[in-house]
Amino acid sequence: MNYRSNLEKVLSQGKFTVTAEIGPPKGSDPEKIRKKAEVLRGYADSFNITDNQTAVVRMSSIAGCTILLNMDMEPLMQITCRDRNRIALQSDVLGAAAIGIKNILCLTGDHQSFGNHPSAKGVYDIDSIQLIQILKNMRDNGIFQSGDEIISGRPEIFIGAAANPFADPYELRVDRLEKKVRAGADFIQTQSVFNVDKFNEWMDEVRSRGLDNKIHILAGITPLKSLKITERMKFHVPGVDIPEDIYKRMKTAVDPKKEGYGIALELINEIKQIKGVHGIHITALFWEESIPSLVKDSALLPRS
Ligand SMILES: Cc1cc2nc3c(=O)[nH]c(=O)nc-3n(C[C@H](O)[C@H](O)[C@H](O)COP(=O)(O)OP(=O)(O)OC[C@H]3O[C@@H](n4cnc5c(N)ncnc54)[C@H](O)[C@@H]3O)c2cc1C
Repeated sequence: MNYRSNLEKVLSQGKFTVTAEIGPPKGSDPEKIRKKAEVLRGYADSFNITDNQTAVVRMSSIAGCTILLNMDMEPLMQITCRDRNRIALQSDVLGAAAIGIKNILCLTGDHQSFGNHPSAKGVYDIDSIQLIQILKNMRDNGIFQSGDEIISGRPEIFIGAAANPFADPYELRVDRLEKKVRAGADFIQTQSVFNVDKFNEWMDEVRSRGLDNKIHILAGITPLKSLKITERMKFHVPGVDIPEDIYKRMKTAVDPKKEGYGIALELINEIKQIKGVHGIHITALFWEESIPSLVKDSALLPRS
């Protein structure tokens, strides 16, 4: 079997998979990415490079991915529809494939009004679902969105998308996932999971529609480094659901860092048992150094 990427390979082989996020710097220094990547080497199957997350300007995802490729590490390029129209998106997909990027996560993107250029024009020519469709057509049928043929080299990309099991309106959550599956996504990375009961409800519905057999689902994990980060996520990040018991544990902990690490380990162990979940996606906000021990302590990597 020919796999497009290492990520596709480990997921297809049924191994419980780990991806980890590397946020590019607010500057052009490549060392910032190299340093984070070196800490994570060997502790994830593929590494997400974000695309101006929270709508704050950072080094481009494609540049971050190139730095990883030069380090022989597999990147997963994130791409949002917020800042590019369909011409630029398709062009970036071709460029990414040309330099050896094999995984792309298709996102609509955080709204620009929440970022550091709130008066910026949002493009939103298409949304994440249309982008998935376009990418699949480019890859499988060799055609652009216009219907024109791709002349030399289809982009051989493993196609991903995001899902938020916790955002309102709740009734539309699985519908949105189903649309992404139908559009042609191969894998899903979810928003960070803290409320396992609610995540289980979402997964019940995912399984009842048979979606877990059509797509690989990686559950989001964020180790909470401090009470400040916990409160920022609980009260200021839309679509994040930190239940009261976890908040209380972080609030009363003598050592919040140790508590946050312990909570992340517990969440990974619970999530590992959920049928239909094929891996985890770790977004360690300002705490990338916790990832190696987290995956070792939860016996995920290195694989025996
Ligand atoms: C793993 C992961 C990585 C991310 N990386 C980035 C990044 O690099 N850069 C960045 O800018 N953002 C990033 N985000 C944030 C993400 O773009 C937002 O959380 C977004 O709101 C949801 O993901 P999406 O882009 O796939 O949106 P979509 O699923 O395409 O939805 C777009 C928005 O419209 C809302 N919506 C859709 N349909 C309906 C409906 N019928 N009724 C009401 N509301 C609806 C959704 O709730 C959502 O807010 C990431 C999120 C995740 C989970």
